[in-house]
Amino acid sequence: MPEISLSEKALEGRSNRYMENLNQSQRQAVETLDGPVLVLAGAGTGKTRALTARIAHLLANGKANPNQILSVTFTNKAAREMKHRISEYIGNTVEGMPWLGTFHSLCAKFLRRHAELVGLKPNFTILDTDDQLRLLKQLIRMENIDEKRWTPKLLAGIIDRWKNQAWIPNKLPKSELSAFNSNGQVLYKNYQERLKILNSVDFGDLLLHMITIFQQNPDVLEKYQSWLRFILVDEYQDTNVAQYLWLRLLAGGHKNICCVGDDDQSIYGWRGAEVRNILSFEKDFPGATIIKLEQNYRSSQHILAAASKIITSNESRLGKTLWTEISDGEKVRLIGHWDGEEEARWLGDEIESLGLGTRGLRAYQMDEIAILVRASFQMRAFEDRFVTTGIPYRVIGGPRFYERKEIRDAIAYLRVSSSSEDGLAFERIVNTPKRGIGEKAIQTLNHIAREKGVSLFYAAKLAVSEQLLPSKQNIEMVNLLKQFDHWSSLLKDSKKTHVEITEEILDESGYTHMLLEDKAPDAPGRLENLKEFVKALEEFENIEGFLEHIALVMENEGDESVSKVSIMTLHGSKGLEFPIVFLPGWEDGLFPSQRSMDESGLKGLEEERRLAHVGITRAKELCHISFASNRRIYNQWQNALPSRFIDELPSEDIEVVTLSNAYSKDIRYDSQKQSYPSYVQENNSFSNMPVTDLNKDIYYQKGSYNSPGWVRLKSKTQKPTKMPKFMGSEQNPKPISFLINDRVFHQKFGYGIVKEVDGEKITVDFEKSDKKDIKSGFLNKSSSVTE
Ligand code: ATP
Ligand code: MG
Repeated sequence: MPEISLSEKALEGRSNRYMENLNQSQRQAVETLDGPVLVLAGAGTGKTRALTARIAHLLANGKANPNQILSVTFTNKAAREMKHRISEYIGNTVEGMPWLGTFHSLCAKFLRRHAELVGLKPNFTILDTDDQLRLLKQLIRMENIDEKRWTPKLLAGIIDRWKNQAWIPNKLPKSELSAFNSNGQVLYKNYQERLKILNSVDFGDLLLHMITIFQQNPDVLEKYQSWLRFILVDEYQDTNVAQYLWLRLLAGGHKNICCVGDDDQSIYGWRGAEVRNILSFEKDFPGATIIKLEQNYRSSQHILAAASKIITSNESRLGKTLWTEISDGEKVRLIGHWDGEEEARWLGDEIESLGLGTRGLRAYQMDEIAILVRASFQMRAFEDRFVTTGIPYRVIGGPRFYERKEIRDAIAYLRVSSSSEDGLAFERIVNTPKRGIGEKAIQTLNHIAREKGVSLFYAAKLAVSEQLLPSKQNIEMVNLLKQFDHWSSLLKDSKKTHVEITEEILDESGYTHMLLEDKAPDAPGRLENLKEFVKALEEFENIEGFLEHIALVMENEGDESVSKVSIMTLHGSKGLEFPIVFLPGWEDGLFPSQRSMDESGLKGLEEERRLAHVGITRAKELCHISFASNRRIYNQWQNALPSRFIDELPSEDIEVVTLSNAYSKDIRYDSQKQSYPSYVQENNSFSNMPVTDLNKDIYYQKGSYNSPGWVRLKSKTQKPTKMPKFMGSEQNPKPISFLINDRVFHQKFGYGIVKEVDGEKITVDFEKSDKKDIKSGFLNKSSSVTE
């Protein structure tokens, strides 16, 4: 390995600028170079900053050359940022940092050098998900397994989980042998063999192969151990077992490993992350220096207090104190809305005001503002709103809503139904869901279309009438064409609304069914996106208007130099910070996510709570939490309860904001008549709702929570609605005390018997589900059963 050294210029420029302002503990983290170091500290305490300074220190003092330091970040973006900072600290003449990157990128680099040790060639291919699934499908078929029931996606998920645990096929624990109807192990073995023949790897293999290489080739491992003299890891709480093993092997000689992390920010348990890695560091590296950082440099007092209070409800945590010298600042703002659309309108207006500096605060740049959502479907309402009002935005860490695959597919169905000329759209979905119409058939259609100068759709009609396709494909194509004729006649001349017709199209085409059947972990999220898509349609008079709007959204890619609001998921926001943060959709079921609680019980809830903690701690100056009382799904109103996390916020750090002027006085609850305008009662859409101008000066009213939306909901439901505790006592249902053996009712899980009572935590054995821990506020007593 050629040694890269610092240039003369860099040596001249050496300084310890990187040490400026660091506190005592941070300095210790930078300067304790020999032996293992764990920095275990809360959000915003300067862990990443200390890690970056540590690298600068190693370089500036000639302790290591840039290519002798291995530094792991969680994302490629974080790696770029770190490199940038280091060169700022010690002058921009550091010649590369080849071993600074994510686990995946680092392992890919290592593996290219030693591919032959695991039977690969250095130019191996890293398979994308589609290729991986295609391969698994072949293997499943070869074993004569029912691939409809035992799908490639399910198998891919299982194999990925095994790889995260660093389990190779013949080392699977007994408990896993029944996986995939007891065929998992054989298929895993076959899969690995096939990958080798294809000179390919999947993402999990990058680490797995490196572990194998290090374990089986001590000489190779030793070479790296002596070369990579310093190892640094950011976001250590989210490493999985395989990543952990790999690090332990590399650090095994010199043990100069410095990991920084925060157990309260472990949010990737669902992807195999093991917070235990952080907890067992001392055991694995005896004599480790443990450094705690407690001063937070990011958030103002109220924000930090709110985030700290929420996380105290988690039982499985080490516990730590955070403090800040930053002023009290603004309280965390809590705002309730009538529905998601109202929330989006409010948020757009609020951002405009913040940009203009009309909130009594300075004028903010758009890139100082972030919206952090729990589920990607939530982005749609904001994106639509921003396009309408011209607020520049970017979606970070994923495609924008209308660019998602399932949304593009749904749009393609609508486009063909409203104009059969649209060949690209037709090609996109002719075989989605699968109809057995493959590449070859599409080539035939394209050929006819070109030759006859007709659309692809018409070419398909010609092909079926002349029986140019194999018989099975012919039948499928006839059906599809008939369906499109039917849908387009519905759109032209039908009493049904365009929303109803769209639902029909998605159902009859088999698209919804395909997602329902899909066992992949992202399938439920994609289904949610599809529902959100239908909801978006309701805001337009017809399909044409909607499609035009989407074309505009797609065009809004915008200029890179323009300052933009960031929209991202809470998961994607890890490690980042913004002066202004919006946290919308804090409703039970959405956040905490019902799915996560159903799948992982209390553990899932605690991970959700850590996400809430991560969300709030991203904010430096201003944090908004909002929720909607209603969400409209498939044209039906669903009442939503404010998130239980809202209950856990400290009232002294929260300012409950009343939207005094609301968005439309026309829809406000009429307290005289104790009734709603007819269109509310009729469950009708708010799309035609006139939006009144906001009188921005009186927009905020501090004090009791009384948004029009909430008032309407209260009266509509006619039963006590659970309100966050500090929003006024009258709405609070009286606390019920529970005894063991009480029969109780829960809205989602139905009837059950109380098994344990521990303060507010009630353990219930549900009749139609397993035992679950439920917060007492969510249970009602049924009759007591003592027999
Ligand atoms: P997270 O847990 O969210 O990843 P972190 O612990 O990595 O947070 P950093 O991102 O390193 O924290 O630092 C948070 C903010 O505080 C940054 O803006 C950083 O520049 C600043 N900061 C860190 N240490 C100091 C310090 N000693 N003096 C002034 N500012 C500091
Ligand atoms: Mg950090």
